[in-house]
Amino acid sequence: MQFADDSILAVVSATMDGGIPAYAAELLGAAATLGTPVALFLHTSGADTAAAATRLGELGAAQVLAAEVPADQLGGPSVDAVISADETCHPQAVLFAHSVEGRDIAARFAVRSRRALITDVVNVSRDDEGIIGHHSVYGGNYQLVSAATFGAPAITVRLGAVDTRADAAAGTLSPLEFTPSERRSASVVSSEPAVINTERPSLLGAKTVVSGGRGFGSPEGFALVNDLADSLGAAVGASRAAVDAGYVEHTAQVGQTGVSVTPDLYIALGISGAIQHLAGMQTSKTIVAVNKDADAPIFDIADFGIVGDVFEIVPKLVDEINARKA
Ligand SMILES: Cc1cc2nc3c(=O)[nH]c(=O)nc-3n(C[C@H](O)[C@H](O)[C@H](O)COP(=O)(O)OP(=O)(O)OC[C@H]3O[C@@H](n4cnc5c(N)ncnc54)[C@H](O)[C@@H]3O)c2cc1C
Repeated sequence: MQFADDSILAVVSATMDGGIPAYAAELLGAAATLGTPVALFLHTSGADTAAAATRLGELGAAQVLAAEVPADQLGGPSVDAVISADETCHPQAVLFAHSVEGRDIAARFAVRSRRALITDVVNVSRDDEGIIGHHSVYGGNYQLVSAATFGAPAITVRLGAVDTRADAAAGTLSPLEFTPSERRSASVVSSEPAVINTERPSLLGAKTVVSGGRGFGSPEGFALVNDLADSLGAAVGASRAAVDAGYVEHTAQVGQTGVSVTPDLYIALGISGAIQHLAGMQTSKTIVAVNKDADAPIFDIADFGIVGDVFEIVPKLVDEINARKA
């Protein structure tokens, strides 16, 4: 196998049904801005690797290394596969999704291969000295850059942050053999897919997100957030205060200890704009806020703001949007 000198390895884990996750387009887009994208496809037994390579090629992978990892082990074998792929194609950087799994594998890979670890970038670039990670920190109030002083860095890329998409490439498939290190890793004793009782889009990757906060006062009040989200075909998000109060399930939490989102449109309803909330949404392209307190910090980062009561404003918004659709 021959690899380009400027290969950038993008680590893509198969979805539960063996498919390609949405973030693959972002990782390969980021890889293409740095060099020649090579995908490492981590899959369990029975996955259709030819179909996966075709899709990864469409998304920009020049080459696809497919490594089978056991379904009943977490982390360890995937790290073994990344190390083997790294030794096979000698990339200039290894990109991972900044997901729970991606962060876990990236950190273990960096420790075992003694690489610099650059986490949670919203973009990547190059200068004369090498590869640079771009970060949006302190609730997006500061943009900073980071770089490794040695070796090819491991980089985790924030989901939804990279807009660049790579041109389609060959997606040449090669199976990747690797020797399990037999290091200790967590074993999966049993698992069952979570049943999602909603037609709404998932928060990750949604183009529009409508989020509600403590301002709704109760689960019944929070139903207005769902109404507006449904009128817009949007995902539902929430502040931690709304989650802690039981208005909505915890998977909806946006922020430092929740999900980070970068939709085209983020509507914050009855949310004050604490820095921990901003950390998860303030790279959204357009932010609209409704709050009855004109001094609420959310208005400092909002592109459009309405000072008013959510119980008055939101039903009017829903009626107007539905009327325009009719
Ligand atoms: C370590 C740590 C991690 C955290 N992680 C997160 C996180 O991931 N995500 C997160 O969101 N928070 C997080 N928090 C909590 C965060 O600090 C805030 O407490 C939380 O974001 C506040 O949620 P809120 O804006 O809904 O509530 P509040 O701050 O109580 O604000 C409610 C807002 O609603 C407005 N309001 C009230 N009634 C109405 C009405 N009828 N109409 C219009 N407006 C109304 C009020 O004016 C107010 O601005 C974290 C905190 C810590 C310490």
